[in-house]
Amino acid sequence: MSPPNSIQKVAIIGAGIAGLSCAKELQSHGVAVDVFEKSRGASGRMSTRRTQEWAADHGAQYFTARDPRFHQEVQRWVQAGIADIWSPTLKVFTDGVWHKSNSRETRYVGIPSMNSPGKYLAEDLTIQYETTISRLERRGGQWALQCNESGAISALYDYVVLAIPAPQASILVKDLDSRASDIADSAQMKACWTMMAHFPNQPTTDFDAAFINQEIISWICQNESKPMRQGSRWTIHGSPDWSQENVELSKEDAQNQMMECLAHLGFDCRNPEISMHRWRYASGGLENATGFLSLSDVGLGLCGDWLNGGRVEGAWLSGFRLAAVIHGE
Ligand SMILES: Cc1cc2nc3c(=O)[nH]c(=O)nc-3n(C[C@H](O)[C@H](O)[C@H](O)COP(=O)(O)OP(=O)(O)OC[C@H]3O[C@@H](n4cnc5c(N)ncnc54)[C@H](O)[C@@H]3O)c2cc1C
Repeated sequence: MSPPNSIQKVAIIGAGIAGLSCAKELQSHGVAVDVFEKSRGASGRMSTRRTQEWAADHGAQYFTARDPRFHQEVQRWVQAGIADIWSPTLKVFTDGVWHKSNSRETRYVGIPSMNSPGKYLAEDLTIQYETTISRLERRGGQWALQCNESGAISALYDYVVLAIPAPQASILVKDLDSRASDIADSAQMKACWTMMAHFPNQPTTDFDAAFINQEIISWICQNESKPMRQGSRWTIHGSPDWSQENVELSKEDAQNQMMECLAHLGFDCRNPEISMHRWRYASGGLENATGFLSLSDVGLGLCGDWLNGGRVEGAWLSGFRLAAVIHGE
């Protein structure tokens, strides 16, 4: 099907779930799409740390599907064998006391790992990896792009979508358009310190994952409780407030503080194997979600979790809805 308007060629910056959903939807309506991604693979914060010995989801832990459009998409993923329901035994730690969670939410995870849906969506898209877009320039009613790695991108584009966290979008639109930079600058994103750990002396717990309140840790999860995972690796997230306040700590100092908290939660942390990761822009966004931003007069759009309430579902919907505006439905 041909696009009904004059937008023939779109550049999407960022191959996280928002950029991928935007790209797929545009491509299905006949728009030519090139995606540019600074890292080596697709999926962004829906990610998995992999070594020769172990693997662990270290970004998004699971996702929900409340909107019928996203629910339908997730059913496609389930049928394709790249997502499944995860039904953990969940506990909550509040005011120093453990109790069972009453949550009845249906939770999904990518299988065999959290980046599987992203890899699946990326399959029939044109994506240039290891390409960090550093500059956008208006040229004769179209967009020219520059990247850090190889200078100018040869193609020109009718429309550019920034599907990247607000602080990174802010840098690219700073001197281009005040509407885009105002919205990007008004978003508040917070960091997350993540620990992936094996505790050889820790006895089996009576929960698979737990929400932790009023501590510097906010989440702890046994990776092998999710479908198609092996090994015994915990993923532990620092709380957004503590992580943001301590974003400049060294990995060692962040690790030490989180280990103290784990000991306080009753974990036997002797002889641990630990890997740390700092997410600079993990969560948060606009106070009043706008869903996405489309500036059709200049051919510039913004999408991503930070414009749509955060989380995987919000990111996917943000990209999907922006695509619908671009292809003119
Ligand atoms: C620790 C953590 C835990 C989380 N837990 C959950 C959870 O349990 N459930 C849930 O639903 N959500 C969770 N989330 C949030 C969820 O991961 C995000 O909402 C969602 O993945 C965001 O997708 P996105 O496409 O908007 O952005 P991203 O996934 O950040 O994608 C943006 C992409 O753009 C690329 N990029 C950035 N700048 C450039 C540039 N200049 N040029 C080229 N490429 C660029 C990045 O490399 C990245 O791949 C969590 C996130 C983190 C970090």
